[in-house]
Amino acid sequence: MNCQRVQNLLSALIDQELESNQKQEVRRHLVGCRECHAEHTTLLQLKECFGNLPKTEPRLDTLAGLRLRFSEKPAPTAFSARFNLILLRGLSLTGVCLLLFLMVTALLYPAGAPAGGVAATNNFTAPATVAAADQNFSLDQSVTVYQASLDLP
Ligand SMILES: [Zn+2]
Repeated sequence: MNCQRVQNLLSALIDQELESNQKQEVRRHLVGCRECHAEHTTLLQLKECFGNLPKTEPRLDTLAGLRLRFSEKPAPTAFSARFNLILLRGLSLTGVCLLLFLMVTALLYPAGAPAGGVAATNNFTAPATVAAADQNFSLDQSVTVYQASLDLP
């Protein structure tokens, strides 16, 4: 058993939680290893120190005060105030972006414009010569630049 494993098991050894074979292995290691033995001694001293502390029962008014404090809404901390400020800024920025989007949309697509808006103005109407050469297009049919480019030599 290596030192790391033994040191992980020291608390369990002190609390009498190990099985007998594990306990024997750890004790055997402690006899031969100065470092683990020192760690074991320190843990034993700590346990003894905590065991010697006087046991106090919490006073009833202390318990009532704690219940009252937990039932109250916590006061805003510096972190939550800062978080709220960041959230407010983010929402403001989003609102401004949305407003700009709506304004640009209103400019590009005025209320009385024909359906299709900007896309309709970008349509390429094939010249009569191209349309006459291709049976797929008529003069009345609008053709996109992409469609027209497929027919050009
Ligand atoms: Zn060791």
